[in-house]
Amino acid sequence: MKRIVVLGSTGSIGTSALDVIRNSNGKFQVVALSGNRNHKLLIEQIKEFSPKYVCVGTEEGYLEISREFPEIKLFLGDSGLTELANLKDYDILLTAVSGAIGIEATVAGIKNEKRIALANKETMVAAGGYINKLLKEYPKAEIVPVDSEHSAIFQSMLGGRKNEVNKLIITASGGTFRGKSVEELKNVKVEDALKHPNWSMGKKITIDSSSLVNKGLEIIEAHELFGVDYDHIEVLVHPQSIIHSMVEFKDRAVIAQLGAPDMKLPIQYAFTYPEREANIVFEPLDFTKASTLTFEKVDNKTFKGVELAYRAGRTGKSMPAVFNAANEVAVELFMKGKIGFLTIYEIIEKAMERHIPIEIDSVETVKSVDRETREWVYSEYGEKEE
Ligand code: NDP
Ligand code: MG
Repeated sequence: MKRIVVLGSTGSIGTSALDVIRNSNGKFQVVALSGNRNHKLLIEQIKEFSPKYVCVGTEEGYLEISREFPEIKLFLGDSGLTELANLKDYDILLTAVSGAIGIEATVAGIKNEKRIALANKETMVAAGGYINKLLKEYPKAEIVPVDSEHSAIFQSMLGGRKNEVNKLIITASGGTFRGKSVEELKNVKVEDALKHPNWSMGKKITIDSSSLVNKGLEIIEAHELFGVDYDHIEVLVHPQSIIHSMVEFKDRAVIAQLGAPDMKLPIQYAFTYPEREANIVFEPLDFTKASTLTFEKVDNKTFKGVELAYRAGRTGKSMPAVFNAANEVAVELFMKGKIGFLTIYEIIEKAMERHIPIEIDSVETVKSVDRETREWVYSEYGEKEE
């Protein structure tokens, strides 16, 4: 039995993870849950999974949960996430909060030499170099990626040796706006950007998929996770989302992982690796229904998310943290109707142009770059609302 801490249990990945745990015949057990604003759902989850520890983001939620479940050790706010990661009595930390807020908890999980089932890609983008350094210092800690592309690459890597890899091929659905022109994108609405063709996900990542910034984040995430340089990481649009990503080896053999577009598979694999377990929640892939697989190049002129990420990644140091922070605020402002869709690219580009990269050698450095970037974006493009 593996004991699991779920950070972000009320989100899209969090609820899928609980579904995997629910159907695991007791192979996985919930030790701790965390939610931010949705304490109603968190309470439902507490009733079902009886965690020993819980973290919630609001005072209202804190009061209600402490009243209803006096036996639970309860934490409040960002520091509570780190407290959960610092617990000793668990095996796997699933980081499924959205945004750079996940960094400190991930670092704490590594220092406690746990397995990190990493969904929170923003952490690896903003602080990848530092996290890799920590992984060397704490060799018993390990990261198993949950992001479907990275899980696919992780699985495909088992088909050869690391020094035999020629390149990584990250597939992309192309997002909601695939095929649209710059002119057509000028006035798209939030509701349009939130309609993803294949995947059901949280709002922030769905907007990131529409702008292809998600793919940009995934390029940097892949570079940090697998140590492959940017000249050997490619993006390929594959609208059916059946091939989740591929690895080309020196001999030109390409190993891929295929499956239905359902995050429960990579979540479960991150829990069971190096084993595989049967699980009744997955639909098997039906090749007679998914018989056409197509591929095309990314339209980099229209969707600048990929090119901007290569620029940030190649510059390195603190630039990926700026790319990420600028995008997080830009997406928030877009969702509030304060900026147009294409302004997301403008914000990222300008934030990167004004930034002088510094070495990331601590969580504090990442946080200060993150904070400085956010403040600049708010001051230029819209006031922060609480
Ligand atoms: P959601 O928005 O659906 O869920 C986010 C979770 O984090 C919720 O539990 C939310 O709580 C919590 N949360 C948000 N802000 C804070 C905060 N400030 N402090 C504490 N908790 C917070 O996101 P997803 O599940 O879609 O994504 C989670 C992560 O996984 C992201 O990093 C994303 O990029 C990555 N990912 C997601 C995929 C997907 O299919 N969804 C695929 C690959 C990667 P509440 O709802 O209670 O406010
Ligand atoms: Mg992905």
